[in-house]
Amino acid sequence: MIPSFQIFDCRSRQQIREAIVRVFDLYQAVLPRDKTGLILLKPNLNSHMNALTGNTTDLRLLVEIVTELQKRDYRNIIIAEGSNSGFYRNNISVINRLRVDTMAAALGVEVLDLNYTEGQEIELDHGLKGEAAKICSEAELFINVPKIKTHFEVGITVCLKSLIGCMVGQKNKKKIHDNLPRNILNINRVIKPHLQIIDGLIAMEGNGPTRGTPVLCGKIIAGRDPVLLDYLCARIMGIPFTAVDYLKIALHEKLLSDQDRGSVDSLELDSWPAPFKQAHSNLLVRFIFNHRFQRYFQMIRATSWAEKLCSSRFGGKLLYLSGIRQDVFLADTTHIERLVHNQERCKKCRKCEEYCPLGRKLPEGFDLTDETCLHCLYCLSVCPEQAITIAGDLGFFAEQVRQYGYLIRKTL
Ligand code: SF4
Ligand code: SF4
Repeated sequence: MIPSFQIFDCRSRQQIREAIVRVFDLYQAVLPRDKTGLILLKPNLNSHMNALTGNTTDLRLLVEIVTELQKRDYRNIIIAEGSNSGFYRNNISVINRLRVDTMAAALGVEVLDLNYTEGQEIELDHGLKGEAAKICSEAELFINVPKIKTHFEVGITVCLKSLIGCMVGQKNKKKIHDNLPRNILNINRVIKPHLQIIDGLIAMEGNGPTRGTPVLCGKIIAGRDPVLLDYLCARIMGIPFTAVDYLKIALHEKLLSDQDRGSVDSLELDSWPAPFKQAHSNLLVRFIFNHRFQRYFQMIRATSWAEKLCSSRFGGKLLYLSGIRQDVFLADTTHIERLVHNQERCKKCRKCEEYCPLGRKLPEGFDLTDETCLHCLYCLSVCPEQAITIAGDLGFFAEQVRQYGYLIRKTL
């Protein structure tokens, strides 16, 4: 019998690999018979902060999923995501900044920015219509690979909320905010992933989805029903479903059976970290993002003067400092000539190897010229001795180091 969900302990790279093999054994019914059938993997690449901050899907998990599918002879694999409106508006490719494109090239698969694809119509709240990427419904196998995070507007973001990344471009993503909880469910009525593989390796608590703090959970959760899985994740995070607006509606609309709900409610959760800190926004943010007023704020936001202000450096800073905007859309790109390994500082703990998405043999590999290095800087971020630096310019990544450098070393 296919389980409705399965939780895997993944404290090491080997355990991530074994978990993914097991996921495809358990859920092999979803695998296309035709080995040339299109398989779409949709990670959460909401912003340019990497997985170690708790923000985006872990490259180690994506590598293992792609590799296992390739071992099973699937060759038509695309990694696809449409990152958030601000990055889109500023012409910043998050897929590139997170090195997902370089990783995909190393594995021999394609990437696709869903913000620029053909759309299919989705009926939204208040009679609005939006467009989601058509390819999400066309793929023979659509695997959603979301991250477990708290979310200041709707409580949490896991499977259901992550599909906002399927909406095409800024115009359609903005429409969702007209009534975010209801529109999350509206998108999921049309776009239906066949499988969910949830990244609970390093989750995010506090002021998510972008300004929270990382939590080392070391879990992968797989299943098919996104409502059940989000309900499960809320329980795991210690956040009552009543604090998650879209789950409240989903349960009211009986989108979760009593049996499935009971199976989650009766779970022993000893191996999970203490309850996650919930997102707490200031009064101004709560007022502006109140679902009852959102449509009016969206109308103001659509005016040309508001667009001008929000796009300016000064306006962006003001929005960030007030908490209304969570991201900093830095234009500075990274230029890495090479990684620099300080042998004297290095204690040979091999943490860099454990976190390297490509599983490079480290720290020995730092001293070799290796063109397969993604320049993802996971190794630099986790090194407890700060023995890894770069020759070149960190660019936007300096902001991650400023905000999360110490936190990552302390947490992981
Ligand atoms: S993580 Fe740092 S200290 Fe540990 S082996 Fe790698 S370079 Fe050395
Ligand atoms: S060596 Fe470091 S920068 Fe290169 S792929 Fe591995 S973790 Fe990323």
